[in-house]
Amino acid sequence: MEIKDSIIDLPVQDPENEEFSSVDLTWTKFGSTDQLVDEVALIPYERVDAFINGECNNIECPTRFHIERGRKREPGSLKECKDDEYLLYRLYWCSFGPENYGEGGSILPSRRYRLNTRNRAARPQSMRGCTCHFIVKRLYARPSLALLIYNDRRHVNKSGFVCHGPLDRDAIGPGAKKIPYIGNEIQQQTMSLLYLGIPEENVLQTHIEGIQRYCGSNAKVNSLASQYVQKLEMIIKRSTHELDLDDQASIRMWVERNRKSVFFYQDSSETDPFILGIQTEWQLQQMIRFGHQSLLAAHSSFGISKLKYPLYTLLAFDSRQHPLPVAWIITRTSAKRDVSKWMKALSDRVRAVESSWMVSGFIIDDAAVEVDPIRDVFRCPVLFCLWRIRRSWLRNVVKKCSNIEVQREIFKRLGKIMYSIWDGSDSVVSLEEFIQDFVDQTAFMQYFKESWVPKIDMWLATMKNLPLASQEASGAIEAYHVKLKTKLYDDLHLGSIQRVDWLVHKLTTEIHSSYWLDRYADESGSFQTVKEEYISSTSWHRALQIPDDDVILDDKDHLFAKVVSQEDGDHRHLVWNPGSEFALCSCSWSMQGNLCKHIIKVNMVCQKKHSDYHPSMSFQSFREILLKFWRKVVDDSIALDQSVAWTKQMHDTIQRLVELSNSNNIGSVVRSLPVKWVSKKGRTFAGKPAAYTLALPPSKESASQRKHRKRKRLSRLRGGSA
Ligand SMILES: [Zn+2]
Ligand SMILES: [Zn+2]
Repeated sequence: MEIKDSIIDLPVQDPENEEFSSVDLTWTKFGSTDQLVDEVALIPYERVDAFINGECNNIECPTRFHIERGRKREPGSLKECKDDEYLLYRLYWCSFGPENYGEGGSILPSRRYRLNTRNRAARPQSMRGCTCHFIVKRLYARPSLALLIYNDRRHVNKSGFVCHGPLDRDAIGPGAKKIPYIGNEIQQQTMSLLYLGIPEENVLQTHIEGIQRYCGSNAKVNSLASQYVQKLEMIIKRSTHELDLDDQASIRMWVERNRKSVFFYQDSSETDPFILGIQTEWQLQQMIRFGHQSLLAAHSSFGISKLKYPLYTLLAFDSRQHPLPVAWIITRTSAKRDVSKWMKALSDRVRAVESSWMVSGFIIDDAAVEVDPIRDVFRCPVLFCLWRIRRSWLRNVVKKCSNIEVQREIFKRLGKIMYSIWDGSDSVVSLEEFIQDFVDQTAFMQYFKESWVPKIDMWLATMKNLPLASQEASGAIEAYHVKLKTKLYDDLHLGSIQRVDWLVHKLTTEIHSSYWLDRYADESGSFQTVKEEYISSTSWHRALQIPDDDVILDDKDHLFAKVVSQEDGDHRHLVWNPGSEFALCSCSWSMQGNLCKHIIKVNMVCQKKHSDYHPSMSFQSFREILLKFWRKVVDDSIALDQSVAWTKQMHDTIQRLVELSNSNNIGSVVRSLPVKWVSKKGRTFAGKPAAYTLALPPSKESASQRKHRKRKRLSRLRGGSA
């Protein structure tokens, strides 16, 4: 066959079937250089999904394809281009590949000390080393067309053998070739259900439903599926975190076996501290999906006194704005150099898949956190969240002061010190007065003077300098904290709490499974109870369920509010100091130090009555930013025009975001949008809008950098894609 060096006269093929695959297309040999010749075909860009679906439903090798790599170019960014240059580039790989860690792993464990030899069987059967992959290029010069490039159409491994599907003659284990193939998703589902203790018959039923997609239904399949589920359950029961008696060796082995879930690893040595960065393939996908043009939050220094190394979690906010852990970092170091290293590795990993990925803001929860690495790596503004300081103070107030009235008053006054940032009063004076007034509360004062007074300036300065995150964000991060604590410390293996391998095991099995299943239940509509529990897992969401009429404000002095109990209509919860983050509620959830739904609901109601109550801290900090912005003097020049354009764009973006979050019918908001929505079909559904850029400039930036960035943004604005 002739080898073409241009695609300009290739015919556009558009098969009639709803789905089609490579066999329905005529392929042309194409080579732009001497070295490589690929087979290519040209189809309408809007039919790409139909092609991918067709390739997935291959009878001989049913599979799914995932995006292994992606790149994007802005329209108008190239002056000259070849006819096969891409606007959008995606490398799709068969999900039974590309890696194969199951065989020939280079490092074998120190077997003498190995406690559990059955562990190896728990390796994912889905990694089969399949080499089948193809490329989809949306053409730069002709965006309505997609160029398909196939390197290898066969589902074979590197040795050239068929490696999955009914034709695979070399499946693992006796009789295994008859076992229906279990893709990643079904395996994850079955494992999650087992980890979460769902009864075996229910697990089996959903498992069978899952695999029938690949192989139809018959008695043999069902009995094999039942064996599989039993085996998996046994493996899970017997699996142990201890791969070696020595914790450090055990972790090394875990890292070796789970390379795909490790984005950064540095063993402790004389010069370097221990750092382990964990992110599963699924977490990576979620970080891309929910983090892009949205927020990330850090939940830092968990277990600082109990665990061998503290845990640092990066959270994204999912489609319900619930917290979703997208990466875990286990380390004791918070030095700039070390933080930069793992953050860079993480961001590189994400951008290798989606080069245009960017976050709009990064929320930190500890004033001692180094913000420079965040600004350098993620290139976004840093926000501050109050949840940690609020929680520590409240827990200690409740624990160390016995009188409820004293508790309320102390907590209110602590809030006042915080609010002094905006009301012009001197925080040092407020602090001194506070210590004077409650000098008889010796237990609390001792704690406060030891733990907070020395660093209160730093905390107040951080809160003053950084924009503050909302109560919804506080509630979400706290919800993650509470779940983590329950799952980690409520364990029979508590003797292992000082072992890192135990923490890794716990995170990557039970906790990962639980978040996976939450998302799956919500998106697929299955597992109704899991779904309901997941939806009501944040205090913000629970607050939304309380009717306005159930909130009774004390309109005279604004000292307290009452909320009708949702469980017992005769009971009222008393919320002291309404309208403030430092409100204290009489319910048991609040008395344990949590931000309860009653406080959030009361504050929602108070916010509507602006004139009577002072606005929330996050709102005050937002207003402060806008005012500073507004007061900036600009001359009547083109620089002013640029600022106007930029401000307008920001205003529109914020307005749309607000509209979107207040709307019950997202569709109507979407339809009125002027910008074209990027279709993300294929990788995600029910995803977040991609068309927003909300990026306030980081505060510590030189004017020239700012100007450069502004120019870039404006050029993007002119290019028509925000
Ligand atoms: Zn394959
Ligand atoms: Zn409450």
